[in-house]
Amino acid sequence: MKILIFLALVLPLSLLGKSTNLNSGMRPTHYQKRESATFNIGLAYYGDFWKEDDLRRIAPLLKERFELATNGLIKLNIIGLDVLSFKTKYDPIFMNKEYPHIKDPERLQRIFYYETVNAKVMSEAYEEFKKSKIGKSYHLMDALLVITGAQFEGLGFANGRIAVTEQPREIAWAIPSGRTEIVSDESIVDELIHELGHTMFLGHTSTQCQKPGMTLEQKRQCCEASPSKNDVMSYCRSRGSVGQDQMFGFESCNLEMISQLIIPAMLKGKRWNIRGRKRCL
Ligand SMILES: [Zn+2]
Repeated sequence: MKILIFLALVLPLSLLGKSTNLNSGMRPTHYQKRESATFNIGLAYYGDFWKEDDLRRIAPLLKERFELATNGLIKLNIIGLDVLSFKTKYDPIFMNKEYPHIKDPERLQRIFYYETVNAKVMSEAYEEFKKSKIGKSYHLMDALLVITGAQFEGLGFANGRIAVTEQPREIAWAIPSGRTEIVSDESIVDELIHELGHTMFLGHTSTQCQKPGMTLEQKRQCCEASPSKNDVMSYCRSRGSVGQDQMFGFESCNLEMISQLIIPAMLKGKRWNIRGRKRCL
């Protein structure tokens, strides 16, 4: 009996199949028990377009808007900021052959990520930041948000507790008139709040309006009738309207899950993939 108690005390939680922070990997199974509903994150930039000052500028806006988005139910604690250059350097011979019309080495570098690393940029960034300044706080983090110049399919995505979004965004790079779009701070924050939702195990809302084969008009009408159309997790929301005076938050269906399932899981150190998640229409 004594031996069993001893083993239970010394065995790392991870060996029991339970993990609570980013040190153990990208998908910790449980929340670290806590006194109050605070979500602890790291905010990082991967690439060469932004510097740490850009993260410093955007951090208060992210905190303010995330807390508004959750109706004040969850506080956001940004534990650390960090910037790293790309690990994977572009191959000029390959890129000049594929994209003779692009001369800017920074664009070539960003597009090279699309060609080679793509969605794996998430695990690459997780590993690189683990070895860097911010990685020293991985044991305190619920999630890591990465803004990156690396291009991939989609505007942003999350896997477990890691999320990525693009800044800048390369548009139509296969043609000579392609361009580089600098995303506004408000739009980056909108995307990050959406991804934060995923890192809290929330799915998309209004998915009934994204069925394959629907026409644009059918989608529009469906969105119009969707109760969660303005939820930050909805593809119905009009991202183009996001700005200094406009943002999207979690609507009643998601707020209910936040207060009844997610916050109790955080406070009690329960499973991250909460049971009883419902679909918000
Ligand atoms: Zn999403």
